[in-house]
Amino acid sequence: MAAIFTDQLDFILFFYGLAFILLGAVAVAVSRGTQQDIPWPWLGAFGYIHGGGEWLDLLAMILGDSPGFSLMRTVLMTVSYIALLEFGRLDAMRRGVRMPGRFIYAPLLALIILGGYLAGPNAASAFVRYALAFPGAALACGLLFMHARTATQVGKRWLMTAAAGFALYAIAAGLVVPPTPDWEGDFFNYEMFAAFSGMPIQFVRGILACFISFAIWGYWGQRLVVETDSALYAKFHKRQFVWTLSAMGVILIAGWLLTQILGGIYKKNIEEEASGDLNLIVSRLVGETAAVEGMVKALAGSRSVGELVAGNPKADRTRIDDVLNLETEASGASEGFILDSRGKVIAKSVSATDTDTDTDTIGEDFSRTTFFKAGIDGAPEYYFAIESELRIPYYYVGYPIRSNSGHNLGQPIGVAVLKKRLSRFEVDLQQFDRSFAMIDRNGIILLTNRPQMRFRTVWPLSPGLRDALSEIYGAINPTPLMEREILDSNWIVFDGERDYVQRGYLKHGDWSLLTWKVPQGVLACRVLGIIITLQMAMLALVYLGGRERWMHDTIHLEKRFELEELARSLDKRAATDPLTGLFNRRKFDRSLANEIMRAQRYKTQLSLMLFDIDHFKKVNDNFGHQVGDAVLVELARYTAGHIRNTDVLARWGGEEFVILSPGNSGPMDCLFAGNLLAGFRSLKIADVGTITCSFGVAEFQDGDTAETLLARADDALYQAKSNGRNRIELADPQLLAGVPLVPADAPLGETTEAAISVDR
Ligand code: GH3
Ligand code: MG
Ligand code: MG
Repeated sequence: MAAIFTDQLDFILFFYGLAFILLGAVAVAVSRGTQQDIPWPWLGAFGYIHGGGEWLDLLAMILGDSPGFSLMRTVLMTVSYIALLEFGRLDAMRRGVRMPGRFIYAPLLALIILGGYLAGPNAASAFVRYALAFPGAALACGLLFMHARTATQVGKRWLMTAAAGFALYAIAAGLVVPPTPDWEGDFFNYEMFAAFSGMPIQFVRGILACFISFAIWGYWGQRLVVETDSALYAKFHKRQFVWTLSAMGVILIAGWLLTQILGGIYKKNIEEEASGDLNLIVSRLVGETAAVEGMVKALAGSRSVGELVAGNPKADRTRIDDVLNLETEASGASEGFILDSRGKVIAKSVSATDTDTDTDTIGEDFSRTTFFKAGIDGAPEYYFAIESELRIPYYYVGYPIRSNSGHNLGQPIGVAVLKKRLSRFEVDLQQFDRSFAMIDRNGIILLTNRPQMRFRTVWPLSPGLRDALSEIYGAINPTPLMEREILDSNWIVFDGERDYVQRGYLKHGDWSLLTWKVPQGVLACRVLGIIITLQMAMLALVYLGGRERWMHDTIHLEKRFELEELARSLDKRAATDPLTGLFNRRKFDRSLANEIMRAQRYKTQLSLMLFDIDHFKKVNDNFGHQVGDAVLVELARYTAGHIRNTDVLARWGGEEFVILSPGNSGPMDCLFAGNLLAGFRSLKIADVGTITCSFGVAEFQDGDTAETLLARADDALYQAKSNGRNRIELADPQLLAGVPLVPADAPLGETTEAAISVDR
């Protein structure tokens, strides 16, 4: 797997979970639509549960796992895939495809439990993928594809895209399974995928979930665009889509980098601290061995030892023993001895301290040991070894004793040996908080401050080597701590945890030093990066969601305004006359009914006036219909400008108008009519000249209905026409009796005379 992924597994899990939660949110949002043709809530449940499960995986990675927690996550994953299958199953049934009932989950679950029982939790998880995830995703793919084919252009392409996403997801989630060491069912597992593609499968699944989420969101948006039928929303949706896509992209990439940087800062500290610790241990070990090295040289160069080895009978035995004991003691060695040229022990120290190791005796043959062979060849030999029976680590030093006289002057004639027990060093280092181990070249831990790891192999051993090493050391624990040998420093999974492991080499021998430490702080720093990313993502989604809401409200409001406007204009159109803009007869009838009721109830006066243009036909005939229309409009405009607020003016039909005047008496209305009559004369309408009207006025009487009042006004109008036009008639002339008909202020001229010549 590429290094950019191995270092970021936690972030990938976070991204994986986020992508699925996003999918859940989008599916739930779509389900709020008006048309419920696809059982989206099940897909929503799948997304939420699956995403939540992935975040628990992340939690396990950060806080550590336990079998119970792991089981819980497998259960959650199972439930999520059942929701996905339900999504497909219900949808298929809605489309008339025959599907098994929910009982089908019973044998599938039994299979999974059996698999887990027989072959372990990874096998159970593989079964979940084969039995639920693959069919679930494949069914979802097929159904979305079918929906896409029947969809009427709206969102067709988006559904196709989502279907394609599910097809790939069926492979990534349903066929790529965790490795199952005790079962051959993992045809293609995570490790193979990582080796093949260079990236973890979780990353690919996360990308696919994002892909599907955005496709479904696109589909949803398209449908909303059609539903709202608003150009504004169509434009907004496009922009919102691009914005969300880029915001999520930027946040995730920035989060990825931030997490890496934060982790990196801590990592560097760890690395520096680790190399400091390694150097410290190495230097302590050097201190431990340096004294022995110095002393062995002194011992080999001592005159009396030389004489003894050369076989000089004058050699002082007690002096030799003294020197030997002194040098052994001073170097902290547990044993010292002198070998002759045949490898036989000719002198040895009497150790005061390490009596238990004091097993070598005078005359014992060491001719086959490494230190003897090297020493007699003239080369000093330093190395570490395990004393086989007691399995105690020792540091051995062999140094040639050279002849100091005679024909073989300078030739090695014996070997001085010091042997230091390293157990004390080991005990010394127990207090060291960092873990360390001395390993041989095959990776077997021989000395460590983690006693339970002694004689365990660090990296995998071949079976042959394992047997050979067991011969040397006795029983070894062949379970490797890391997956491969490392030569210097590396971030690697060590004993199940990702640690910084360092390997350092010693001046002598083929043992090396290994140190490691669980870098708790790195995770804390990385979690900080992940939390910041999550917060940014939430902020962006809340903001974008808010915008979507706001847009919806705006469009709703706009739509409502439009409708209200429409209703108002319809209302107005229903009540007004299109040519003059006055109320029409319909509207007038309603006002008339109201005012009659009011007059009856409050005993107030009410007067109704009808007027009709005289010889209007001639206007039409002489000047054309359009000029006739203009006359009507002008007359209406003038009249409307001269009535009281409380009066109701309407076009009664053709060239006939009506005015209802609440609170007005018949005679007063006649005066008002007179004013209008005079006013009409002043109207200047292109070429037409003066127009006149005839007026019929009727005052409301007790017992009048709309019909009778109108009929009396109409009669009065008819009267005015027949009396020569250009005049006013009051329906009940007796009303005028005793009422002084005060002429209007304005001089009415002859018209006034004509108009007011009401029969008294
Ligand atoms: P009188 O003095 O008896 O009322 O004679 P008149 O010609 O005004 O009466 P008549 O009822 O015989 O003719 C009314 C004319 O008004 C007939 C019709 O063509 C015309 N008219 C009705 N409505 C409109 C209209 O909306 N526009 C125009 N230009 N003419 C109209
Ligand atoms: Mg007329
Ligand atoms: Mg008429």
